[in-house]
Amino acid sequence: MVVAGLDVLNDCQPVEAALAYIARGWPVFPVAWVASPDGPCACRSGASCTHPAKHPLVPGGTSSATTDRSHVLDWWRHWPAAGIGLITGARSGLAVLDVDPRHGGSGSLDALRASVGVPATLTAQTGGGGQHLYFAIGDAQRVPNTAGRLPALGEAAGLDIRGEGGYVVAPPSSHLSGNRYLWLAGTAGPAPLPAWLQRPSRPPRPARQVSLPAGSASERYVAAVLRREADAVASAAEGQRSDQLNRSAFALGTLVGGGALTLDAVTTALLDAALDAGLGYTEASRTIASGLRAGMARPRSVI
Ligand SMILES: [Zn+2]
Repeated sequence: MVVAGLDVLNDCQPVEAALAYIARGWPVFPVAWVASPDGPCACRSGASCTHPAKHPLVPGGTSSATTDRSHVLDWWRHWPAAGIGLITGARSGLAVLDVDPRHGGSGSLDALRASVGVPATLTAQTGGGGQHLYFAIGDAQRVPNTAGRLPALGEAAGLDIRGEGGYVVAPPSSHLSGNRYLWLAGTAGPAPLPAWLQRPSRPPRPARQVSLPAGSASERYVAAVLRREADAVASAAEGQRSDQLNRSAFALGTLVGGGALTLDAVTTALLDAALDAGLGYTEASRTIASGLRAGMARPRSVI
């Protein structure tokens, strides 16, 4: 069977491309555009917009992305020139490797080709002169968002991953430069996610300690603190994850020192949260251990 490449969409109206994406099960939402190269953003902020032609036009951003046809038709009837935001992560089943040549991404990509190999896959040329390599995520795979770093390989200048909770601007949207995002001919669909874009599997560790006693007020308080700190780590923004992990480990360490929590329960909860946030196992373990040690040196009891 011959499958048409997505490059047939390069000369379409944005709404036609958006409909083609939702037909593939890829949720979309409208993004702002510029009417002329380097012109003001079409959003309310106009010339003072800090991300012209790159941000969602709708409240809720990525969470408003949909595969609902009537919704999509309404949006692009309202904003015919709007770009197309395509969400990445489990909902679309897509992860995108963003190659930014201004930060050395082309060299990093060449190095990857020479070392681990890069499968032929659905690729868009971005309006900024870079490339978006699209990959298909398997059901059990979770791909973090990273900048300048790859999960299995570490530092990678100019290579970012858009995974869970992220999005890319898809062809034929226009870019601030006046260039459009365009599909490269040749590949009809995304290749399976290569191993070097996957999070290394976790070393085995003791089973999670499930239940904290739910009895007294002080026990409920301690359980709530543990949950709150783990949530803060899991949802920390990139660049603040290590600091947050250290702060949370310290705070919980004071309770371990006071005998209100076990070291095991805290370590397990924080490690889970840190890996969810996209931190590496080794770095996370080290941060947790040092934060806990410092906190335990200042024990705090709950009455
Ligand atoms: Zn704007």
